[in-house]
Amino acid sequence: AADPSMSPEAQPEDYDRALRPKMLDDFVGQAEAKANLRVFIQSARMRGEAMDHTLFHGPPGLGKTTLAQIMARELGVGFRMTSGPVLAKAGDLAAILTNLEARDVLFIDEIHRLNPAVEEVLYPALEDYELDLVIGEGPAARTVRIELQPFTLVGATTRLGLLTTPLRDRFGIPTRLQFYTEDELHRIVTGNAIKLGVPAEDGGAREIARRSRGTPRIAGRLLRRVVDFAVVEGNGVVTQALADSSLTRLGVDHLGLDGADRRYITLIAENYSGGPVGIETLSAALSESRDALEEVIEPFLLQQGLIQRTPRGRMLAQKAWDHLGLPMPRVAGQ
Ligand code: ADP
Repeated sequence: AADPSMSPEAQPEDYDRALRPKMLDDFVGQAEAKANLRVFIQSARMRGEAMDHTLFHGPPGLGKTTLAQIMARELGVGFRMTSGPVLAKAGDLAAILTNLEARDVLFIDEIHRLNPAVEEVLYPALEDYELDLVIGEGPAARTVRIELQPFTLVGATTRLGLLTTPLRDRFGIPTRLQFYTEDELHRIVTGNAIKLGVPAEDGGAREIARRSRGTPRIAGRLLRRVVDFAVVEGNGVVTQALADSSLTRLGVDHLGLDGADRRYITLIAENYSGGPVGIETLSAALSESRDALEEVIEPFLLQQGLIQRTPRGRMLAQKAWDHLGLPMPRVAGQ
């Protein structure tokens, strides 16, 4: 078989597969999104039509890919998966679109990173299930129109603001995913422990849930690491004490912040007296890409009320000073 990394079609990581919920009923949290999707899925099934194009946006690891797969399963249709950056040429997308069967779900991850030439081809496909392809070059070039089967595009993005307006407007069902509550993560960790065949005490599951940055993917990863410690150094049971000591050894603190989060807030505290400081300055000082800061680190710090975004840059909130155990400096003139 061809090297899958060279193909524009991808598969969800093996690593995650064992823990992925299969149906809407198994999917914990996101109550509002789930209730709406349930209606839209049922309506599409009753009308025998392709479900409307759906856009999931929100930080990584909150279940965008999982929900797309669940939609296909609940609709009883096929599922294809690719991502914005791997669709280099219009032909890559055309090859996938022409292979879809009626009402299939096509999932495009990181859809904000589509090449503009590929995006152009997508518009008529989304609106009229048609593909306009240019064949040949120069004076001999001509356009051929190909009819497609009706299909559902499910797009996922961590950066809604980077989507072009025409693309965004073509999604009939835009859906924002939220960070999970501690109770929801507690249910997810408990369920995952059962799937992994590991006994987890209630306090152990709760400790992991509390320190998972509101994110099921992180909860899954931390559970696996705590299980490693439980097996090698404990008696195989995930207790609260074992979860606490393991997570501390992994550099995950009591708010769930990891080393990168702490470097971010410590830098603003120590080098910029709490800010405001611009994102480019932070990116250079931390040697992290601006995208990584905006997509991965900042959303959780903002949601926790540890930082604020102001027109002049990022500022630490009182809670971050408390967390660092430092006094909040007095601002001159206030
Ligand atoms: P995203 O596409 O938003 O980055 P994924 O759908 O890949 O996130 O989810 C990451 C991991 O978290 C997967 O292993 C998935 O099984 C798990 N997960 C996500 N949402 C839930 C949920 N609501 N309940 C249980 N597990 C979840």
